[in-house]
Amino acid sequence: MHLQELHKTASYFPSTSLMPCLFLGHGSPMNAIEENEFVIGFRKIALELPKPKAILCISAHWETKGTRVTNMLYPKTIHDFGGFPKALFDVQYPAKGSPELAFEIKKNTTKTEVQFDENWGLDHGAWSVLKHLFPLADVPIIQMSLDVNLSPQGHYDVAKQLAELRRKGILIIGSGNMIHNLGLVHWQKLNDIGFAYDWAIEAREKMNHFILNDDHDSLIHYKNNGHSFQLSIPTPEHYIPLLYVLALKEKTEDLNLFNDKALAGSLTMTSIKIG
Ligand code: ZN
Repeated sequence: MHLQELHKTASYFPSTSLMPCLFLGHGSPMNAIEENEFVIGFRKIALELPKPKAILCISAHWETKGTRVTNMLYPKTIHDFGGFPKALFDVQYPAKGSPELAFEIKKNTTKTEVQFDENWGLDHGAWSVLKHLFPLADVPIIQMSLDVNLSPQGHYDVAKQLAELRRKGILIIGSGNMIHNLGLVHWQKLNDIGFAYDWAIEAREKMNHFILNDDHDSLIHYKNNGHSFQLSIPTPEHYIPLLYVLALKEKTEDLNLFNDKALAGSLTMTSIKIG
């Protein structure tokens, strides 16, 4: 369908019941090809989802000036890392794009100007988890970038405008890590699931409390939450996708945590399913 024809259509995506949405702690890129309890968690959650018409992924690994959405038909698999085995570089995730969904987002977002992007594709924040959720790569997917100029509140407000997509069969996924301090990773305990520094234990408990009590203000203004949050979120990109997903929650909806574990001292894999 051409864009001109799309303009005439009320919506390319017909109304559906409310699609769940997910925040996924993606952790190491190696999760794409390793077998562990976290990827089992991803596969299990996928079984609880209706098949989406398309997916919108907000990944920690795509930061831009201004908000962008991919609108190519065939997004390339981007291997945006170094120092990993060849097997990881060999991974391809050949899902199609969805220019229709990109158009729908651009049309409905007024809190910021959304630009189409032809150059990105799927970064590992997207494909390393999607590979487990939808191994056949048979659901079209687009990515939306994180505008480095937006405040946490600004991101949350943009996300609110995506909520209607949930009634159009679109699965929205935020991919990051709530606690993500690579500088303080205990490399000897890299695969030590459950090992967390005291500050990470404290921050995880507080984050989970805020999430489970719908206290989004405390999560948006995370910089006011003291030392444990400062160490947990040294840079915002792995945390902000969480705000996108929380902004989509309707008041009475269920919210469940899964993969709720720390590892290597300064990371958590805590993930969320809403709906
Ligand atoms: Zn990452």
